[in-house]
Amino acid sequence: MIDFTFTEEQEMFRKAAREFAETQVAPKVPEMEEAGKVNDEVVKALGEAEMMALTIPEEYGGLGLGYVARLIALEEISRVSVATAMMLQIFGLGIEPIIRFGNEEQKRRYLPGLAKGERLATVAVTEATGGSDPKSGRTSYKRDGDDYIINGRKCFITNSHIADTVTVLAKDEEDPEVFTAFIVEKGMEGFRPSHEEHKVGMRGCNTGELVFEHCRVPRENLLGEEGKGMRVAMAAIGEVGRGGMVGCALGLQAACLEASLKFANERILYGKPISNLQTIQNKLAEMRIDLEAGRLLGYRAAAMQDRGMRSSNEFAVAKYFTTEAAQKGAKTAVDIHGGYGCLEEYPVSRYYRDSIVLGPSAGTSDIMKVIIARWVLKPFRK
Ligand SMILES: Cc1cc2nc3c(=O)[nH]c(=O)nc-3n(C[C@H](O)[C@H](O)[C@H](O)COP(=O)(O)OP(=O)(O)OC[C@H]3O[C@@H](n4cnc5c(N)ncnc54)[C@H](O)[C@@H]3O)c2cc1C
Repeated sequence: MIDFTFTEEQEMFRKAAREFAETQVAPKVPEMEEAGKVNDEVVKALGEAEMMALTIPEEYGGLGLGYVARLIALEEISRVSVATAMMLQIFGLGIEPIIRFGNEEQKRRYLPGLAKGERLATVAVTEATGGSDPKSGRTSYKRDGDDYIINGRKCFITNSHIADTVTVLAKDEEDPEVFTAFIVEKGMEGFRPSHEEHKVGMRGCNTGELVFEHCRVPRENLLGEEGKGMRVAMAAIGEVGRGGMVGCALGLQAACLEASLKFANERILYGKPISNLQTIQNKLAEMRIDLEAGRLLGYRAAAMQDRGMRSSNEFAVAKYFTTEAAQKGAKTAVDIHGGYGCLEEYPVSRYYRDSIVLGPSAGTSDIMKVIIARWVLKPFRK
């Protein structure tokens, strides 16, 4: 049976997430924008509100609420701060490989501290040699007794300077076709964050480079099977990474529509609010259409994920649609504001900058189309 309604618990959770976002995150946004940094108090509040525990199973200290709940939380947080939602989304992507592929010992060691927000996480796949083409990454590993030695550099890593636990993809020094995933921890010999990026948008989250210089990783930190690293990374990115970007995009779209509605009803031209102009009404209607359609795509994929169904193709569709729509919606919101849209005191200027940053993470729109085309063409390939 198809049911397009949220459960009573999910509605209550959305209400709580909205209240959290509006009271704990929104007041810190100006400070985050000004400093161009993650706000420690916001991170602490996320932990206390158990936002880091949503997808972690209860037996490892989490709430086990699943991926629809995660999408609700990300949408509500992104509605006030896309940067904070992005920080939380990549945290979720960083822990997913441990939840899915970690052994019992690794789950017991890492997940409880991550669930409490005492430890932060990220995932490090991208390198300068190509994000869309992860096989061209050069970060390598080799066996050294009971340990592995990792060498290389990862770029564009969200939470690079605040993460304690990093899922890293590296290739066998002797066989460039063999990839393995490792859990690298802050403080391990030879591992350090390096350059920090200054992005045009999402200024309140941290993006930077991670360096592995003869980084010694014990055998117990091997994640999943040796040689199956690409599967570990791609399974997490395909569903949790793309799903998280859908949450960031939906929240931004909602914020753009709300700000535009407010402005269009306050701005008087020709003696009446501009919401009386049909051109403005058309823009508002288009924003609402995109938001409704994006929500259907995103929450359907998340519901499939909660039911244990494979949902990476559906998330590729949702990620493409919602991030493109958020970029279009942010531009429309700026246009509705006329000259005021160019002023920093109006939030739509931030939404516009933030919308630019939504595209590449967890795969560009071009890559989403490559995935979707592969999916639709599959029955025709012998
Ligand atoms: C804010 C932000 C946060 C990020 N966080 C993380 C993170 O935490 N961890 C992590 O590992 N990575 C992260 N990334 C990296 C992100 O995954 C990459 O930016 C993305 O995969 C694109 O890679 P690239 O930037 O190297 O672009 P490239 O791969 O160099 O792409 C350049 C252009 O070529 C196009 N292109 C590439 N291949 C194809 C193709 N086959 N067909 C058609 N067009 C193609 C692309 O669409 C794009 O237009 C983040 C990026 C950003 C911007």
